[in-house]
Amino acid sequence: MPADVDVLVVGAGPVGLLLANECARRGLGWRLVEAHATQSIHSKALAIFPRTLEVLDMAGLVGPFLEAANRVTSVSVVTHERRLARMEFAPDESPYRFAAMVPQDLTCGNSSGSSTSCSAARASAAGSCSCAIATPSRP
Ligand SMILES: Cc1cc2nc3c(=O)[nH]c(=O)nc-3n(C[C@H](O)[C@H](O)[C@H](O)COP(=O)(O)OP(=O)(O)OC[C@H]3O[C@@H](n4cnc5c(N)ncnc54)[C@H](O)[C@@H]3O)c2cc1C
Repeated sequence: MPADVDVLVVGAGPVGLLLANECARRGLGWRLVEAHATQSIHSKALAIFPRTLEVLDMAGLVGPFLEAANRVTSVSVVTHERRLARMEFAPDESPYRFAAMVPQDLTCGNSSGSSTSCSAARASAAGSCSCAIATPSRP
């Protein structure tokens, strides 16, 4: 590993991207490696729940997610025109009283670095960012 890399982040999923951003915010030299060269076509983490929005806020990242999100306050599970369940996503104790629906391909971005997380990490690190391999220069 190059001498200017303090932290090697393996995997450019939501967790790896957030960790890279946190390293960048703290002035650490980081490298992000990802096994896949292209973005997954499958949407996994669609709903970002209130507590996660609070954590993204603390990391200085929540703005782009809020801009991209459809805000959902409740979900009903319906079958044959009969409602089986209704889930509320509006906790009184959070400033974010909704689930933010953002497709994971937006959250994790693509190799052009257009994602919300990648853009934020790139801005913090003042370096280049790619979900295949990202290595910003040490600030
Ligand atoms: C169908 C489905 C729906 C979901 N919906 C939601 C939802 O609505 N809301 C929600 O909050 N969560 C949801 N989840 C869960 C969410 O997807 C995961 O919690 C989240 O993706 C975990 O992030 P991660 O970064 O830990 O892992 P991942 O997203 O799995 O990313 C790990 C990355 O690491 C890479 N990798 C692995 N090993 C290596 C290696 N050795 N070298 C290099 N790269 C490597 C992989 O290629 C991958 O890109 C859903 C999951 C599924 C399957």
